This record gives sequence, structure tokens and C-alpha cells, in this order.
Amino acid sequence: MKAEIFSIGTELLMGELTDTNGSWIAAQLPALGIQLQWVTIVGDNLDMISEAFTRGMARSDLMFTTGGLGPTQDDLTREAVAKAFGETPVVQPEVVERLERYFEGRGMAMPAHNIKQAHLIPSAEFIPNPNGTAPGWWTERDGKIIVSMPGPPGEMHPMWENQVAPRLREIVDDEVTVTRNVKTLGMSEAAIDEVMDEYFGQENPYLGIYSKADGIHLRIIARAASEGEARSMIQPVEAAIEERLGEYIWGYDDETPEQSVGQALLGKGLTMATMETCTGGFLANSITESPQAFRYFRGGVVAFSPQQAMENGVPAGVVEQHGLASEKAAAAMASAARERLDADYGIGIAGVSSPDGENGHPAGQIFIAIAGPDGVKELAMRVPPRRITIKRRGSNTALTELRKLIASREESSSA
Ligand code: AMP
Ligand code: MG
Repeated sequence: MKAEIFSIGTELLMGELTDTNGSWIAAQLPALGIQLQWVTIVGDNLDMISEAFTRGMARSDLMFTTGGLGPTQDDLTREAVAKAFGETPVVQPEVVERLERYFEGRGMAMPAHNIKQAHLIPSAEFIPNPNGTAPGWWTERDGKIIVSMPGPPGEMHPMWENQVAPRLREIVDDEVTVTRNVKTLGMSEAAIDEVMDEYFGQENPYLGIYSKADGIHLRIIARAASEGEARSMIQPVEAAIEERLGEYIWGYDDETPEQSVGQALLGKGLTMATMETCTGGFLANSITESPQAFRYFRGGVVAFSPQQAMENGVPAGVVEQHGLASEKAAAAMASAARERLDADYGIGIAGVSSPDGENGHPAGQIFIAIAGPDGVKELAMRVPPRRITIKRRGSNTALTELRKLIASREESSSA
């Protein structure tokens, strides 16, 4: 089936809001066997939206829309679908009642404008929205389908997963595409290329290699009649990657370094703490992205001056002799974080914050240390000297290294 996506809202056209809904929906379609052909951004203008829908109906079977389902005058998606189908919206009393109860539950009277959200045209049916006031619309006539979903990702994602995707699975019987992403760190792209040589260049399953901020990703893509069949084509390639790159793998699919390390710590009942300079809190921020972080993260210190580092437990002698941007300082920071914050593991990240370099080290030089029950592991790396790159690569490397350390301990203790 051929599909397109319409992201609706003037703020998208103004560059004030990024169209993450469009790319999120796009990423869901290959596994459903739906072929995406167009993504269109349209402002809050009735004629333009309905014109876009009319054009979409001439070239696609399936159209997905997000945004414009709100109660305000500039939310015009329903009206535009009605116009494109040539039908008139009629108010649905049972939905008005449901909305009234929704507002009652929040101790408010329903604003009159919300009545808009209770209208329907004959070719449409509601898609319930348990997370907000705007129900979606599934509109279908003459083999053309428009699926309209609310703009807020927190409402749109569950609506898609619980209601739209299951329904699409029933009606689409085209070949599906399934992707598996294996994430590694520590081995170069060229070395991986060599080790996995015979798998590259195959059409189906296809193996791709991508360099990202959190390491090298290997992506296996398979096409088949069913999802199960595609997965069974992926399986032997994934097994070969695991056999050959095992110790470098830290995660799969959407997993992030902080989730991966969080899982490893939770599984063992271990804790961690951090002290960082050049990453400016980015490491602690990443760790606390996980809702379970309170179980294993004891806290972190951002020491942006030698005085702060010393006050937080880095010996004055280390700072005087080696400077704060040094391997020795990173190791002392890791140990100080571990001891002062009473954690099983302490991460220290020191590095050059100034664009002009420091202590004879160039900008982009990073020192990472991990203090744990078995001593201190140190590593040094150099990245392009952009601030965000230093923060991202420094944090991601520290986290994946900690994960590897926990995994290797597990192996040696179970061996
Ligand atoms: P709307 O339904 O058009 O009133 O949109 C409500 C809210 O949903 C917006 O303020 C955004 O926060 C979010 N939103 C709408 N469209 C998108 C989009 N294409 N990508 C990401 N967020 C969106
Ligand atoms: Mg809007």
C-alpha cells in the first residue's frame, strides 16, 4: 500500500516546531509493509489542508495526519477531511457527554469550543484517545483511508500502537520490512567491515554499517511476506555479529547507553556516581533520562574549576602536578565520586574545555576513568573539538565502558 504523511500546523512551517511526528510515523511503516511516498507539512489553513488531502487521495491509498485536532479555531484537520470528502460534520451527543465527564473529572466545565472535537462525518469513525480530549478520525471511502491523529506525541504514540497499527496489520498484506540494529563501541568501522566481510553486499537480508555518536551500529534489514519470516532471515546474521563482535556490543535497536548501563546495574543491584569537568553535567543528565535512575544513580558533581575538584575529593597534589585535564585527574575524580557518594562504581570525565587547549593537550582531548571494586580503568580519546561532540562522545563512551566492565565481571565470576 502506498502512503503519505501530513504534518499539520503553522508552527511547523515557521520552524518553531520540528516535525518529529512525521519521522516517527515513517519509522513505523516498513515493518507494516506500507510504502511511504510523501511527507507534507501544511499550515493551519483550511483550503490548503483540504487541497493537500485531495492531492493525496489521487496518488496514495493511505494518508496519515497529525496535528490540528485541538479545540481552537486554527485546528482545522477535521474540517479539511470533511471538505476533501465532500461531507458535512454532525455533532455526536455521546462524545459531547464523554468530553463533559473528562472536564468534570478535572474539576472544570467543558469550554464551548471543545464541541468541535465531538463532530463526525458519515465516512469517519472516532479513534478513542484515552490520553487527551481530541479523538482521532479513521475516515474511509472508495478504498482511500485518512487516519487523523492528535499532534502531542504522548497522545499520538499510544493511539498508533494500540489502535492504528493493529488495524493496519489487518488490511495490509504487502511484503514487510524488519530492521534489527546492533550497537557496538570500541572496534573501528574498517575492522568490523573486515570481520563481517561476507555479509556485506547481500541484498536481502541487507547489512549496513553506520558510525554514530554512541559507536558503530550494524543494521540488518530483511524483507519477507511476514514479520516472522523476516525475523528468521535476520537471526543468522545477528548470531554471526554476536559471535564475532560480542564483547563490543552494548545494545540493540532503540536502546541508549544510559538504558543499557542502567539495566546492567539494576540486574546486579549495583550503584554508580559521577564527577565530570568538560562534559558539564551531560553525563549526569543522560543517566537521569532513565525513569529508574533513582535506583542506581547516587549523584554527580560538575567540577568546572580545580578548586571545586579539590573540594570534592581530588587530591591537590594530582591537580598541581598533572592539571585537571589529565588522566590522573580523571582517575582521582572517579575514585572520589565512588567514595564520597558511596557508590559501587565512580565515573570521572576530565578533558579540555578551552578551545585553545590546556596542559599541552588539544581541544577535544578527553580522559575517562571508572573506579570500581576491582580498581580503576582508564582510557583516553580524542574527538572533534565541538562542545556537543565532546559532551556526547565522552558521556556515551564512559557509559558503554561501564556496561562492558559490569558484563565482564559477570562472566569472570560465573566462569
Ligand atoms: P495541534 O494538535 O496541532 O494543536 O498540536 C498540539 C501539539 O502537538 C503542538 O503544540 C506540538 O507540541 C505537538 N505537535 C503537533 N504536531 C507535531 C509534529 N508534527 N511533530 C511533533 N510534535 C507535534
Ligand atoms: Mg496546531
